[in-house]
Amino acid sequence: MTIYNLGSINIDHFYRVPHLPAPGETLAAESYTVGLGGKGANQSAAAAKAGARVVHIGAVGSDGTWAVDRLAGWGVDTRHIARLDTPSGHAIINVDAGGENAIVLFPGANWALPFSLIDAALAGAGPSDTLLLQNETAHQAEAAALARELGMRVIYSAAPFDIGAVQAVLENVTVLALNAVEADQLAAAMGIGLDLIDVPELLVTRGAEGAEWRSREGDRAVAAPVKVHAVDTTGAGDTFAGYFAAARDAGRPPAAALSLAGAAASLKVTRHGTADAIPTLDEVEAFRA
Ligand code: ADP
Repeated sequence: MTIYNLGSINIDHFYRVPHLPAPGETLAAESYTVGLGGKGANQSAAAAKAGARVVHIGAVGSDGTWAVDRLAGWGVDTRHIARLDTPSGHAIINVDAGGENAIVLFPGANWALPFSLIDAALAGAGPSDTLLLQNETAHQAEAAALARELGMRVIYSAAPFDIGAVQAVLENVTVLALNAVEADQLAAAMGIGLDLIDVPELLVTRGAEGAEWRSREGDRAVAAPVKVHAVDTTGAGDTFAGYFAAARDAGRPPAAALSLAGAAASLKVTRHGTADAIPTLDEVEAFRA
């Protein structure tokens, strides 16, 4: 019915530089662009573009109004995005001529959002709704516990990887979503094989190789690789997670949700940009046809 996404909203500042600045160096950038990013905003964009009803729970500062407007423009319900007296989360992204980058991330409002915001947003939620989470805001563990109490499906993208954050959320997760690197990190940190991680559903995306899913009962499904000319893989995992959440919310079985999400994410990597570049359902369906 409704996907509630407790998620980060970041303003990405991209500077194209001749080389990454050395300590003490002052360097003139060749170009500067600003975009909407943050795993949360990307996943809300993806789920809304996939046709789901999405309520974003998050926070920005006074510099983030345009970011909220951008989400609203894609149909995301932004009434539970708080305006705080602190800067919006933002990233300073230097990209050199070879495509190598160096990033400074300031979590800002994402880490300052109060739990009361989540509590108020989930007041009307129930078993037919989904809570989507990543690791870039405050209160993931408490939100997952509350959602579980309400009987909601909890889809958790354990990124950026942090074993403490994962362990705090894990017992209340319905779907644990990882990329291949995170899957290795989690298995190593827990000292067990991936197959022994005890969650109702495990989703692992594997870049150009597609993705795989399994349930606790042993059901399995895959998103077959889709061959494309990849130009920018930023936000690929977020596109996958948002589309997967939307498809499951719409009642599609796991295998169908996986193949839709795989197509959406593969189409995204053929485009430059993050939230803006995530395709709509019409575009994904045309791409698959
Ligand atoms: P993340 O962006 O979190 O690192 P992945 O790299 O696993 O996640 O990518 C997520 C999904 O995006 C993949 O499962 C696949 O569907 C799609 N994808 C990513 N890279 C490519 C690629 N080079 N070619 C085709 N599809 C890709």
